[in-house]
Amino acid sequence: MLSPLQLSRIPDRAETLRPAVRAFLAEALAGRPADRLARSWMGFDAAFSRALAARGWVGLTLPREYGGGGKDAFHRFVLAEELLARGAPVSAHWIADRQSGPLILKYGSSAQKDFFLPKICAAEAFFCIGMSEPQSGSDLAGLRTRAARTAEGWVLKGQKLWTTNAHRAQYMIALVRTSGSPEDRHQGLSQVIVDLSLPGITVRTIGDLAGDAHFNEVFFDDVQLPADALVGEEGAGWAQVTAELAFERSGPERIYGSIVLFDAWLGHLRSLQRASESDLILAGKLLAHLAPLREMSLALTARLAEGASPVIEAALVKDLGTEFEQALPNLLADALYASPEGPPPEMLLRTLHYVLQVCPTFSLRGGTREILRGVIARALGLR
Ligand SMILES: Cc1cc2nc3c(=O)[nH]c(=O)nc-3n(C[C@H](O)[C@H](O)[C@H](O)COP(=O)(O)OP(=O)(O)OC[C@H]3O[C@@H](n4cnc5c(N)ncnc54)[C@H](O)[C@@H]3O)c2cc1C
Repeated sequence: MLSPLQLSRIPDRAETLRPAVRAFLAEALAGRPADRLARSWMGFDAAFSRALAARGWVGLTLPREYGGGGKDAFHRFVLAEELLARGAPVSAHWIADRQSGPLILKYGSSAQKDFFLPKICAAEAFFCIGMSEPQSGSDLAGLRTRAARTAEGWVLKGQKLWTTNAHRAQYMIALVRTSGSPEDRHQGLSQVIVDLSLPGITVRTIGDLAGDAHFNEVFFDDVQLPADALVGEEGAGWAQVTAELAFERSGPERIYGSIVLFDAWLGHLRSLQRASESDLILAGKLLAHLAPLREMSLALTARLAEGASPVIEAALVKDLGTEFEQALPNLLADALYASPEGPPPEMLLRTLHYVLQVCPTFSLRGGTREILRGVIARALGLR
């Protein structure tokens, strides 16, 4: 059921984190050009992730006994907001921090928690998400990769697609079929942790339009997994993945994808003798859209902090958030090319062109717009 989002505010105890993060980022990111910063959570920099971990800023919400920060979702919101607003290259640890760690904490065995969580908090173990397959993106329940039980553990066979960072992560949490057939849909699916250095795994990188190489095809050719590769219960993979998607879809990264560009454009307007009336109106309009989105993302953070799994509310925020992220570069392109000021600075143009190229993906990754709207329609009792 769809429960109304309650406005929330960041408690003072979490706000106290902000100045320290700002000060660290001002130094760590000094001199990085805007077109590089615009990659933000697509930007992979293991050394940067380790520098954050050294300050206790990876695994902030994981318990202290595993090396985590023992803080709540509001602290993570503040940290994530600062990292994204500055364009910090957080891709290396982002998936482990956002969803693999919390998933292992919730469903993993004691041995899995002891082994993986300290490595995640130290930014020594990076994870990727093995959900999509060639015929199963939106239709995730139809996936065909299979883990068959053996006397020693599991044998994994199949293929994943669009796996972000599979070529640089040590581990994948894969959703696979452990019993039945693809026609059984949500029944018979399980999650396994795959050590990507195992024999029988081939990772092939796919380049994107912007010239970056972040996603991959991953082939499993009779890969032998140990018995304890299973996370949570066998056959409960669908429910576990649904809970994981609430983390994946709810965060501020779903509203701040174009924020470095917005900031660079505002900087450009400030540098002009006098910005045009239409630019001032556009700046106001964009902020008027962003402010309530931030409030919605914050309301979801409050639900996460209570331990809830706001899957449907996360679909609402991601749908609206990605609409904003995609509209922003297009509106700025129209404004910049119509400007009487002549050609904009080269770095602003490079940043604009990068964001224009990648923004169509914003509403694909983590579940497409149509799929999210179907989830919302179901919550309204319409499907
Ligand atoms: C940048 C990026 C990073 C990604 N990283 C990962 C990752 O790390 N791990 C991972 O597992 N996946 C990842 N993905 C894959 C992503 O989750 C899928 O691309 C997405 O779920 C859509 O699946 P698909 O590409 O197979 O498209 P399809 O499912 O074939 O969809 C094609 C189009 O048809 C529409 N459509 C499909 N079914 C319906 C329906 N029932 N009703 C109405 N419209 C429908 C879709 O909305 C879409 O517009 C990533 C994708 C991108 C773009």
